[in-house]
Amino acid sequence: MEQITPRTFAETKVRGCNPGFVVTNSGTVVIDTPQLPTKAVAMRREVEGHGPIRYVINTEHHVDHIFGNYYFKGAGQVVHHQGVYDNFMTVYPELDPFEYAREALPDDPGGELLFPEREEYYADPNKGHLVFTGDLTLRVGDHTFHLLHTPGHTPGQIAVHVPEERVVFTGDTIFNDCQTWLMTSDVDQWIASLDRVRALDVDHVIPGHGPVTTLEYVNVQRAVLIEWKSAVADAIARGWTRDEVVAKVNFADRYPVDIGQGYMMDYIQTLNAGSLFDKLTAVPARAH
Ligand SMILES: [Zn+2]
Repeated sequence: MEQITPRTFAETKVRGCNPGFVVTNSGTVVIDTPQLPTKAVAMRREVEGHGPIRYVINTEHHVDHIFGNYYFKGAGQVVHHQGVYDNFMTVYPELDPFEYAREALPDDPGGELLFPEREEYYADPNKGHLVFTGDLTLRVGDHTFHLLHTPGHTPGQIAVHVPEERVVFTGDTIFNDCQTWLMTSDVDQWIASLDRVRALDVDHVIPGHGPVTTLEYVNVQRAVLIEWKSAVADAIARGWTRDEVVAKVNFADRYPVDIGQGYMMDYIQTLNAGSLFDKLTAVPARAH
């Protein structure tokens, strides 16, 4: 894994999210788990080489951030927001997270052997032991972990700020130089959460996807969100139908999709545009 600071490590070059860990003088803390089975097993071994795992923190409920928890059973307490707990590997008509995890196996030679049966997996996927709402601060040895509720990309989204290392793990509140997935999102909340991240005093921003960056990139991510929303709002103002919006509003040329998921480009564009159309055209509840 890539060393970001003397005690902070992250993996940004493998399919799935960017998992990371911090080494304290009283054990280690994992932030998000690798989606690919062999990578999850290897990461656990690597982290445990630095000290026992005290906590496994998830920044959101999407499969690429939580599926790997399965391979960290018995390694400390799993910590995540109530919004992650409530949506943990839930099957939706538009996406079956377990099948999506299975779909990635061709990118992971050896992963097939470690991949559980569906029933075996759901019997104990290693979800939250310590579940919270709002923010939570964990002190582990000589380090502080501020778990900041930063909803937007997903309702249970958090950022993990470690002041002693001057780093923040933002999860998918930041997609650096790759496509932004916003179909399960509240864009306005997301922009407010970017402001929360922007206020931190840090040198390194470890995004959910893409290379490690700095706080400057918050401005780019905000622009991406505003562009998406205003492009769809503009199309609605022109009277376009949902089908027209999905067909014509597209940011595919802007960035590639993160590693290994290039085949999802059309899916992302279609669901980003369609979900924004649905949210912007929904009839607000009447005041009474
Ligand atoms: Zn992600």
